[in-house]
Amino acid sequence: MLFPMRIVSVLLAQPLPEPFDYILPDGMEAEEGAFVVVPLGSREVMGVVWGHKDSSEHARLKAVSAVIDTAPPLPKSVRDFIERAASYSCASLGYMLAMTMRSREALEESPVARLVRPTGAPPDRMTPARDKVLVAATEPMAAAELARKAEVSSGVVKGLVDQGALEVVEQEVDLPYPEPDIDMQGKTLTADQQAAAAELSDLVRSREFHAALLDGVTGSGKTEVYFEAIAAALRDDPTAQVLVLLPEIALTQAVMGRFKERFGAVPAEWHSAAGSKVRRRVWREVANGRARIVVGARSALFLPFPNLRLVIVDEEHDTSYKQEEGVIYNARDLSVMRAHGAKATVLLASATPSLETLANAQSGKYRHLKLRARPGAARLPDILLSDMRESPPEKDRWLSPPLVEAMDQTLSAGEQVLLYLNRRGYAPLVLCKACGEKLKAPDTDSWLTEHRYTGMLICHLTGFTMRKPSHCPHCGAEGALSGIGPGVERLAEETRQRFPKAKIEVFSSDTTRSNEALMDLVNRMERGEIDIMIGTQMAAKGHNFPNLTLVGVVDADSSLKGGDLRAGERTFQLLSQVAGRAGRAEKPGRAIIQTYAPESPAFELLAAGDRDAYMEFELAQRELLGYPPFGRLGAVILSALSSEDADEWAREFGRAQPNAGGVDVLGPAPAPIAVLRGRHRRRFLVRTDRNVDISAFLSAWRDRVKAPSSVRVTLDVEPYSFM
Ligand code: ADP
Repeated sequence: MLFPMRIVSVLLAQPLPEPFDYILPDGMEAEEGAFVVVPLGSREVMGVVWGHKDSSEHARLKAVSAVIDTAPPLPKSVRDFIERAASYSCASLGYMLAMTMRSREALEESPVARLVRPTGAPPDRMTPARDKVLVAATEPMAAAELARKAEVSSGVVKGLVDQGALEVVEQEVDLPYPEPDIDMQGKTLTADQQAAAAELSDLVRSREFHAALLDGVTGSGKTEVYFEAIAAALRDDPTAQVLVLLPEIALTQAVMGRFKERFGAVPAEWHSAAGSKVRRRVWREVANGRARIVVGARSALFLPFPNLRLVIVDEEHDTSYKQEEGVIYNARDLSVMRAHGAKATVLLASATPSLETLANAQSGKYRHLKLRARPGAARLPDILLSDMRESPPEKDRWLSPPLVEAMDQTLSAGEQVLLYLNRRGYAPLVLCKACGEKLKAPDTDSWLTEHRYTGMLICHLTGFTMRKPSHCPHCGAEGALSGIGPGVERLAEETRQRFPKAKIEVFSSDTTRSNEALMDLVNRMERGEIDIMIGTQMAAKGHNFPNLTLVGVVDADSSLKGGDLRAGERTFQLLSQVAGRAGRAEKPGRAIIQTYAPESPAFELLAAGDRDAYMEFELAQRELLGYPPFGRLGAVILSALSSEDADEWAREFGRAQPNAGGVDVLGPAPAPIAVLRGRHRRRFLVRTDRNVDISAFLSAWRDRVKAPSSVRVTLDVEPYSFM
């Protein structure tokens, strides 16, 4: 006879759709959410107890190897979130769990370091070397580090320990984050700011789910307002935790400084590029509730907060909240879901909210808090359109006469200029003048970009890199390869020729490879040591340069091309952001936008400063087509190793489409990037009515086709990329 055994279902942090059952051996306890080690094949892997069952059918089950008791169990609100997020994003449950388990080391206790510090007792005999050590020992530090600092041999330090003049102390390597000081005074708020801060603080204190949009022009002081909401959350509950999401790592440093000013302490900082030590410390401190404020990139949403009371999504319209690789998700949408499950408040902040969020605010689903003006003397910049048909630049030049003249005036007044061009490198296309061939990355439908500083041709999509060849790889002509169109490096060349005395710098991911390089550039711009900054998207957002009074948008039309449904909205948002860099202090600013299509509504209404009219225009278009926010969109992307396979499986998918009302499917069609890293890609676009569960539809569709593993199927709910 078999005895009932205790069985636990364990979710593994692997791309698996559901938990596996394991026997919990006698004497072992594991509550729901506990981290455990279990056998999987011949390996031992980490997982989380997802549930308990009693069953006697355990003949083939393996046993849990160990329960990890050095980390608190994953809170229920986090487990629920993982389930909901996985089903909404059509991602496997285990893959979603992997998003929260980004630091294995965090599950262990902090390692302990052995440090030395002075005891106050003098050594038997003072020597110059010993004196240097005791002077250098201002705080506990490792013996080797102290010897280095005092510039003595390690024997001297050891001697002092033996003498009792230094003692060895043990200290955890990962220290807790300092507590924020909520009683420090913030800025004196304007009436608008005060009203918004008061309403938000009420929402936070209600301990119910609320969503709010903080809608304020660039520089209107949204950050100051959400600081008050953070203070309210922390004041109301001594264990409350707050998460602030930012779209760009480039912005984090400046924001961290403002947090320090407001709360006396730098918050915990999370982004995926951070080293494993930082990640381990943040994760552990969040899990045990000691990290009260976390500032991070989108993946911070998956940290195991036990008591999340407020989530802030700054620049909520930013497309970088959408993760396009691995687990495809939109951190802005999942923030709302996370807050809902935790009965917390979510605050979406932007000067140019997404249409989806705006529609939610207009319908009353989200509170709509408005900041109408910049505080103090700062005014919004004037936005002027420069019609490139009327005053074009000279051949092979990119700056039009009106922009050059404005730059001249600005520099003469001792003020700064930002030229915005969202193209890295020297030229976005390399063409052979002999045979007309355009150079592509191997097995990929994407042009190579010429980078002159490094002499390389780079594919920005796949990262493929090669030296620029002297001969055309197609026809063999020598010296005929020529860069077409401008990138920031080429624009810098033109700018240097026109303004030889100006200090000019390029701000792109190529010139800011390290955090230090980035901070250095931002600091020099802030201090006025740069006259003209030429920047890509990295320079466009968030920065506060007080002496910057002219922004030139070199090629406004490029972001309107491509024709996806958000192109107009995105252009409007981006250009408002870029223009908003000008005139942040007392001096008035202006933005000049170079375009061949000044009559397009996005540009016309941007120049008129009428965001609401533009949003109305876009909403009307979307309503006509049944696109978000009036309907839902999804994409199915198939890729296969040959074009024939891709077509065959695309047909197969087409046939397997589930029958459902309120659903339109377009496709299959070759994806705009039809070949990527040797894989041939086909797309379906799915549009459904608002009340259709598009995630369920897409998952059901995928599950009806048993494609071989060489065919990859990607589901994208509310796609942002249509490539
Ligand atoms: P936003 O986030 O809306 O772009 P910020 O919060 O960054 O705006 O504020 C823009 C600038 O105005 C910052 O330098 C900030 O310190 C300053 N500021 C904001 N609110 C006030 C205020 N009430 N009094 C004085 N300065 C303020």
